Amino acid sequence: MSEKKYTCKDCKYYKPIDEMKGDCFGHEVPADMPAEQCPAKAFEPREGE
Ligand code: SF4
Repeated sequence: MSEKKYTCKDCKYYKPIDEMKGDCFGHEVPADMPAEQCPAKAFEPREGE
């Protein structure tokens, strides 16, 4: 079974700005940054995913 690779856009703290980037706690983050690279180690999957 392959594990889903989560990125910032799957994170419940991510608020999309456009296709490529979004806002996280007032900082701009890339949509496709892998969750394991989260500087705050605060990744949490969105509800229901
Ligand atoms: S908390 Fe981390 S994983 Fe979530 S959007 Fe912000 S930088 Fe990305």
